[in-house]
Amino acid sequence: MNSQIEISADRTWLLKGKGPVIISGPCSAETEEQLIRTANLLAATEKVDLLRAGIWKPRTRPNSFEGVGEEGLKWLKNASEETGKPVCTEVANAKHTELALKHGIDVLWIGARTTVNPFSVQEIADALKGVDIPVMVKNPVNPDLELWIGALERINQAGITRLAAIHRGFSSYEKTKYRNQPKWVLPVELKQRFPELPMLCDPSHIAGSRDIISQVSQKALDFGMEGLMVESHFAPDKAWTDAKQQITPEVLKQVLASLTTVKDVV
Ligand code: PEP
Ligand code: MN
Repeated sequence: MNSQIEISADRTWLLKGKGPVIISGPCSAETEEQLIRTANLLAATEKVDLLRAGIWKPRTRPNSFEGVGEEGLKWLKNASEETGKPVCTEVANAKHTELALKHGIDVLWIGARTTVNPFSVQEIADALKGVDIPVMVKNPVNPDLELWIGALERINQAGITRLAAIHRGFSSYEKTKYRNQPKWVLPVELKQRFPELPMLCDPSHIAGSRDIISQVSQKALDFGMEGLMVESHFAPDKAWTDAKQQITPEVLKQVLASLTTVKDVV
C-alpha cells in the first residue's frame, strides 16, 4: 500500500548534524535520586543529547514493578533543569499522553507493545491532535513493517511531523544471543520507503545483555542509522527493570568512543 508520511524538514529537535544523536537514561525512573544521579553522570560524559526514563512500564508478567507514574514526570523535569538536557518518556495510552504534555516533557516515544495495537496508537494520536511535540515510534514486537508504518501514519495524521522511528528488534520463541532479533532488513526497508524519517536504534532491547551492546550499536551505524537509544543506570546491577542490559554512563562513553560512524543515511 502506498503511504505518505509528512516529515518536518526541521530535524534539529533530534539531529544536531554532529554524528549520531545519543539518547540515554534508565529503563525505569525508580527514585528521584537514581534518576538525577544517572542524568548528571550522563551529562558529564558530554555525549548525550536527550535523556530518557520509563515512567509507565509495560511488563510482560503481572506483579512486577510497573513504573512510578506521574510523580516521575516531575523528576524528569528536575533532571532536565539540572542538566540542561531535554527529556523523553514512553506513553502507552491517552492518559499518559495528557500527563506527559501537562508536565512539559520534550519528546514522547511509543513502545513496541503499544505500536502493535492500532487502538492504543489511535488513542495516543487523538490525544496529540493540535499539539506540536516530537514523537518517536518503536517497531512493534513482531516483525510487521506495515504495522510500524501504520503507527507512524496514525501519529502523523494527528498533525505530528517531527517524527522518528526506533528499531528495537523483534521477539521470537527461539532463543538466540539477542533478546530481540534485529532483523535489520525491516528498518532498512522502512528507511528506503521514508528516506526523510530519522531512523534510530535501541541496541539495549535488541541485545538484552551488556556484552553485545557495542556490537549491535556498530551494526546500526553501519546501516546508516542516525542515532542510538541506550539504557543506562548509575548502578546497573541494582536496576529494578532490565538490569542485565543497562550500562553505566562511564561505560556508555567508552562504547561510544569505540564506534566508527560511517554514513549518515541508509
Ligand atoms: C523501554 O524502552 O524501556 C521499553 C519498554 O522498550 P520496548 O518498547 O522497546 O520494549
Ligand atoms: Mn527497558
